[in-house]
Amino acid sequence: MRSKVNPEIMRSAHSLRNHRSAHSESVRTSGLSPSLLPNTSSSCEGFRKSPNKPLRIMKFGGTSVGDASCIQRVVKIIRSASRESDIVVVISAMSGVTNKLIDAAVQSEGGTREAVARIFTDLRKQHGAAVHALIESNVNRNRIDQQMQELFREGERLCEGTTLLGELTPRARDAISSLGERLSAPLLAAVLDESGLPSQCVDATELIVTDSYHGGAEPWMDLTRDRSVARLQPLIQQGVVPVVTGFIGATEDGVLTTLGRGGSDYSATILGTALDADEVIIWTDVDGLLTADPRLVPDACLISEISYREAAELAYFGAKVLHPKTLQPVMQQGIPLRIRNTFAPEKLGTKITPTGCANGGGVTALAAVIDAAMITVGGPGLIGVQDVLGRTFATTTAARTDVLLISQSSSQNDICLVVSSAHAKRTLEALRHEFSHDLAHEKAEHIALDTTVAIVTVVGQKVRGMAGTAGRIFAALGREHVDVIAIAHGASASNLSLVVARKDVKAALIAAHREFQLGALASAMFPVDSDRPVAWVYESERTGSDAD
Ligand code: ADP
Ligand code: ASP
Ligand code: MG
Repeated sequence: MRSKVNPEIMRSAHSLRNHRSAHSESVRTSGLSPSLLPNTSSSCEGFRKSPNKPLRIMKFGGTSVGDASCIQRVVKIIRSASRESDIVVVISAMSGVTNKLIDAAVQSEGGTREAVARIFTDLRKQHGAAVHALIESNVNRNRIDQQMQELFREGERLCEGTTLLGELTPRARDAISSLGERLSAPLLAAVLDESGLPSQCVDATELIVTDSYHGGAEPWMDLTRDRSVARLQPLIQQGVVPVVTGFIGATEDGVLTTLGRGGSDYSATILGTALDADEVIIWTDVDGLLTADPRLVPDACLISEISYREAAELAYFGAKVLHPKTLQPVMQQGIPLRIRNTFAPEKLGTKITPTGCANGGGVTALAAVIDAAMITVGGPGLIGVQDVLGRTFATTTAARTDVLLISQSSSQNDICLVVSSAHAKRTLEALRHEFSHDLAHEKAEHIALDTTVAIVTVVGQKVRGMAGTAGRIFAALGREHVDVIAIAHGASASNLSLVVARKDVKAALIAAHREFQLGALASAMFPVDSDRPVAWVYESERTGSDAD
């Protein structure tokens, strides 16, 4: 039997973990039910770690590798980390590159060859400039240059094929959009190597085995673990730093897939889980997980520690700093995740742990899904239609739609689903198809789409249990003349979600942030040790060792 991110399989797959330090064991297991813990008596061979070095997976996002000077910062961080840890690097495409590649794919479907050619010229320039600024030896530069030209030609061929077909297949879209990571990873590996740190680029298609759902593939964890251990363990044991392409994987038959936009975060935690890492670090362009999106709430503050559950809710409800599925793999094993700033590596960032840091059960942070759409299935006759809810959810499941929020009037006159805009059209069509008979006989009056909404979510460990939270938020939004279109309160103890008009999102977030005093409450940052260019000793661990 295959496992996706399945606790049963996770449990049987982690054997022979003889070298775990007492400290990491206590961090890793707290707050998890024993049934989710690895089974050390399993016969399956796991990852053998160095006796004294923790294993860290370090993922660098697009802005962290945006140009040559950013890549130099990344090299410095990796070199510093490699002195005290075994490292596996996961890297995104240079910033903006995936967007450009998807634009090329879409343009090629429309037959606009000139636009596609312009995009590839631009991408050649961007990568060429980085190669020339970063790689000193002629031999290495020529090698990387040739490798890149081969990838650009592959992309151009895929676009040309798309133009000839007049159709952009999901498989071709994945293949084209994967090129960014396949370009950046060999470049970083070569720069690390030249800096004196042995490094090798590893294509994640060799490691992460997925299903065949292009554009949002899911990993098969048992196969992924076997391949990752077999491929990466020898490199790590030889002191070589693997630089793995984020965002991508491949089916068992070797067909390239992608994990969804922003999916390199997910790649990092999939590999962290497969290798039983001590920590996964997401390096990005902000200090950590903040109390709200800083682009919308200027006085958003750093959260120094937060629970898996809260972070997962924030990611799911729009905090772009983490891909929505990032927490899933590590939660099952209790592996801590940290978010840190590539541009301020002296800061310690946010630590995400099983239990988080108690803040009295109040509101911890806010998030917003701006590109949401609301579908309503309704009409007075609906009450006579059989199994409306069951049919609705069977339909959304078949369409692979993530339903972000549901609200239903008790008389069954109206069901309202909020989904991401990307899924809206196909979900609407699927529902209209499912209920076509009821629509024709006017039992269902309408199945309508509203694309002008957004979701604002309030997250905290016990938001549901807090008397008056809903009242306070309604009052705060009311003062700003923000209408609440729908509310979901209760499915999860740790979130309360409101649907508002998209134009009101910023006002709603600022009002809620002020109401719950998030700017003031969350600012208890760990102190920064200014003598350390890159901080590796975390304050909590320092305190722990002092006490020993
Ligand atoms: P990367 O390229 O490193 O993957 P992303 O752009 O995907 O980075 O994510 C980082 C961005 O997420 C930040 O620049 C910030 O604007 C946005 N963001 C949204 N919500 C939050 C939040 N709650 N905390 C931190 N950043 C957030
Ligand atoms: N490069 C991919 C994207 O832009 C994956 C990522 O950055 O995480 O979606
Ligand atoms: Mg990202």
